[in-house]
Amino acid sequence: MPGALETLADRLRAVRRVSVITGAGVSAASGVPTFRGPDGLWRRYRPEDLATPDAFARDPALVWAWYAERRATIARCRPNAAHAVLAGWSRPPRGWTVITQNVDDLHLEAGTERLVRLHGSLWDLLCARPCRSGATPWPDRRVPLAPCPPVCPHCGGLARPAVVWFGEALDPGALQAASAAASCDVFIATGTSAVVYPAAGFLHEAASRGALTVEINPDPTPATAVVDLAIAGAAEDVLPRIDALLRAP
Ligand code: NAD
Ligand code: ZN
Repeated sequence: MPGALETLADRLRAVRRVSVITGAGVSAASGVPTFRGPDGLWRRYRPEDLATPDAFARDPALVWAWYAERRATIARCRPNAAHAVLAGWSRPPRGWTVITQNVDDLHLEAGTERLVRLHGSLWDLLCARPCRSGATPWPDRRVPLAPCPPVCPHCGGLARPAVVWFGEALDPGALQAASAAASCDVFIATGTSAVVYPAAGFLHEAASRGALTVEINPDPTPATAVVDLAIAGAAEDVLPRIDALLRAP
């Protein structure tokens, strides 16, 4: 009897359209803390109390202090083996799609070509108001930021990270691209607790359109019981093993 990895590799070899949705766990081995892991608390705050429009309106300096620290941490992080495998799969001849909830841009740094960033990027800023010109994100990779909180270059008002906060709507273009990618033959969720909607809904969408659904996660999640194939393991271990099987003659 072939194991789960062989079964998956056989299926991946036979199909054309594959999509992978990733979350914070894929970047854990790079040193980026997840929200729900042991490092999930910053000072005494939960991310759910910082990554919101209300928190920013109440205390922009506090929210920016948290983002400044995350940017400093992530600036020292490099893509890991999971990012590298997914980047390879995204390039020709495969051209498989990666949908990510991550805002660290490690998929981009690894060279991922077909990437849908659902939650924006920590390395882009936006006018908080927003003014007319500041509504389009601009890149800012400075660590540390000075001044912090940073200002909008167009109107001089407060700038904010160009990320999607809890309670905010996702970019319609990103949503549409992710939904199109959910129309596929194999849909893999890895490094995500699969509780944050609408991202968690794509797994469901893929299943209802007939995709083989797969989860790769060291811990059980709400998705574990509903996927066709649940692989218990870390993304940076499991993905390179699948890739090796795909390369084997
Ligand atoms: P999460 O923190 O809620 O869950 C992380 C998941 O990853 C868990 O299910 C955990 O079991 C799993 N995991 C841990 N180590 C793993 C590994 N080595 N391989 C595979 N899986 C592993 O993260 P989430 O579901 O992505 O959602 C929370 C939100 O937080 C997202 O919207 C995201 O934007 C944001 N976030 C982003 C980053 C980042 O950009 N790197 C980091 C933290 C949170
Ligand atoms: Zn502005």
